[in-house]
Amino acid sequence: MENPVLTIVVPCYNEEAVLYETERQLTEMVYSLMNEGLISPKSSILFVDDGSRDQTWTMIEEIVRKNRLVKGLKLSRNFGHQKALLAGLETAKEEADCVISIDADLQDDISVMREFLLKFHDGCDIVYGVRKKREKDTFFKRATAQGYYRAMKKLGVDLVYNHADYRLMSKRALEELSRFPEQNLFLRGVVPLIGLQTAEVLYDRKERAAGESKYPLKKMLAFAFDGLTSFSVVPIHFITLVGLFTFLSSTIAGLYALFVKISGHADDGWASIIISIWFLGGFMLMSMGLIGEYIGKIYQETKRRPRYTIAQDAQQETISQQLLR
Ligand code: UDP
Ligand code: MG
Repeated sequence: MENPVLTIVVPCYNEEAVLYETERQLTEMVYSLMNEGLISPKSSILFVDDGSRDQTWTMIEEIVRKNRLVKGLKLSRNFGHQKALLAGLETAKEEADCVISIDADLQDDISVMREFLLKFHDGCDIVYGVRKKREKDTFFKRATAQGYYRAMKKLGVDLVYNHADYRLMSKRALEELSRFPEQNLFLRGVVPLIGLQTAEVLYDRKERAAGESKYPLKKMLAFAFDGLTSFSVVPIHFITLVGLFTFLSSTIAGLYALFVKISGHADDGWASIIISIWFLGGFMLMSMGLIGEYIGKIYQETKRRPRYTIAQDAQQETISQQLLR
């Protein structure tokens, strides 16, 4: 068998601080993998610019001109990490036999790509990079992440523990991924659903090489909530159960109140009325909100909008053609 063509897909949003360093390290890695005969000389690195507001795209274009391994893809606006990654994966799939996705900030140890490829050569279609420890993340990030994995597991969503989006996927796995049409794509939840032969590789996660996290608390919460309601209907079952319980207990309380009234010992009843109004009102608002979340999801899915738009691509051939004209 010929050596497989590898494409490394790197989503970038305002990453000017770290981009050159990322390019340097990834290029070095790709050449050494080529020399070891693990990948084909046609392998490449694809930077996806997710509508950055800084110099990221200009830098990518410049890199493409100088570095024959590198290609660039520019999305028409900021679509978010997951969609930028998807755009990269679907583009890379056309030419590559396998794709490794990695963040631009060099937090993930790139040397384990070698192990990813060894597993791929052994016949694995999906290889997950799994963080050994997270001591470099803040205590808050660690604690919330751990709670999240636990909760998701209880709710029946199978996530690979301590795996972010650093993974290898074969062309076959990517083809299967394309058959998941959902708008709210949560790759960490969807990829395990593909099945096929999988493996995990452990690595140490480092601090960001430069720049700031593009996942502030607000985005992190939205991401977590999206992951939950995209994959699990358990919260709706829960609401139904609590609703049933509240309904039954208020019926009993109502009968009791009626009994007290008839027997002529009624007090002024203010407390019970206020309490039940607040309790039921609160509960109903909460339920409606949650059900609304699901309906909102259905609404978004039925629109079948494109998940991303590519504004421009850059590779050495297209740029030299432009120069010839
Ligand atoms: N990213 C992106 N679009 C966004 C936000 C982030 O493409 O809207 C990219 C970002 O450039 C990085 C990766 O997604 O390559 C992960 O982001 P970050 O490192 O900021 O997240 P963290 O590691 O802090 O969770
Ligand atoms: Mg990061």
